[in-house]
Amino acid sequence: MRHIAIVGSGPAGYYTAEAALKQWRDDVRVDIFDSSPVPFGLIRTGVAPDHQSIKRVARRYETTALSDNVHFVGNVMVGRDISIDELRELYDAVVLATGAPNDRKLGLPGEDLPNVFGSAGFVGWYNGHPQFAELHPDFSHETAVIVGNGNVALDVVRILAKSGEEFAGSDIVAHALSALEGSQIRRIVVLGRRGPHQVTMTPKELGELAKLARACPRVDPADLPPLAEDAALDPGMRKTMGHLRSFAMAGGTANDNGNDVICPDRDIAIEFDFFAAPRAILGTDRVEGIEIERTKLVDGKAVGTGETYHIPAGIVVACIGYQTSRIPDVPYDEQGGRFANVEGRIMPGLYCVGWARRGPTGTIGTNRPDGFAIVEKIDADLGPAGGTGKPGRPGFEALAATRGIDFVKFTEWQKIDEAEVANARQGAPREKFVEVDRMIAKAHPSAQEN
Ligand code: NAP
Repeated sequence: MRHIAIVGSGPAGYYTAEAALKQWRDDVRVDIFDSSPVPFGLIRTGVAPDHQSIKRVARRYETTALSDNVHFVGNVMVGRDISIDELRELYDAVVLATGAPNDRKLGLPGEDLPNVFGSAGFVGWYNGHPQFAELHPDFSHETAVIVGNGNVALDVVRILAKSGEEFAGSDIVAHALSALEGSQIRRIVVLGRRGPHQVTMTPKELGELAKLARACPRVDPADLPPLAEDAALDPGMRKTMGHLRSFAMAGGTANDNGNDVICPDRDIAIEFDFFAAPRAILGTDRVEGIEIERTKLVDGKAVGTGETYHIPAGIVVACIGYQTSRIPDVPYDEQGGRFANVEGRIMPGLYCVGWARRGPTGTIGTNRPDGFAIVEKIDADLGPAGGTGKPGRPGFEALAATRGIDFVKFTEWQKIDEAEVANARQGAPREKFVEVDRMIAKAHPSAQEN
């Protein structure tokens, strides 16, 4: 029997569990640890609340979770409640699937001013992550600046631009919906330090900006490279460029041929500012603006031209990528912001997968082959004998009992789930609990009564 511990219950964790079941069938026991009492990581607190179709992938993880050979062990922080070395003593293989939940920093003066956020915090806030429920962003100023030209920047722009009605059917949490409904933001500036050909926005996500009820995306035609240069791009990027080019058209019409709607009379302007590198966040008691240096591309890199300008802004959200959280005793790759590893191997018996292995790139689906690949490596390392005689879950449960670790099982998460679904406002799939205590009270009701 092989005993596998997976740390992290997001996509990378569940795809690894699925792969382990396929590889070893009844000859494996998988425990999936998570610091949160609720599973699914990025699906719950990263994927935008108005992208419910993407969130439906959690149903696939549920099938894996309900297998007799897989257990969810929620509310356990590895590195605090149990150490990596203890886990390695208990399990034949430990796989870190902890994602990349921390923001990369801009490293600019003024970054710590109130109402300047990283995307981890801001996205966590509107998605009901308990750590960020008290963020209280202030939307009373008319201009927001979003730094970054990736899909997370697009998520944040869309959430800021949507009207209350456009969140129908989403699981945006009540505190965020109510704050956004009172928002005074009328101008959203999206800063890209390089140009249109260098964006990492995917076409479907970018095209959504053209469908917003009260907002209008705009690109300065002068920023666009000559049309002929799009031919060298891959098909996805060519579609992305098609959207940016239609955002640049002065006027334009809605039609069914894939052209975007250009919308001069909308309430909110979404302005793409390319070749624009932030240099300082300005303000005294809170953010009041941002200093930007015009850039040019040199060998694909953004190089400052010395020309600077200011944009007054009341809120800044930096969507510039993420880093994996460190775990004591696990070697870390500073440059990559992930665990130091060679093709997923960190040290004997310790592996990593997903964003914790390769950094924060790729779609949710990219984690599936990643999960299968790491299971193959574990299989090769364990060899034909399989297990090494380690105790696995019974060993963990004994330790948890001596240490008073109050872990949450998958069936107990289902009680939280039921309560969230029951609490949903009309048309919404759920209203998430945003306090860990309330989650635990649903999971362990009798413990709370005693
Ligand atoms: P990303 O695609 O790497 O984009 C990060 C952006 O930040 C880039 O435009 C980058 O510019 C810019 N940047 C980095 N450091 C900067 C700095 N110091 N100053 C100014 N700009 C800076 O990352 P992401 O948007 O966080 O997305 C992470 C992953 O999740 C991606 O694979 C993404 O596709 C995925 N995702 C997918 C969806 C979806 O499919 N719906 C939604 C959200 C996220 P440079 O290129 O110049 O470095």
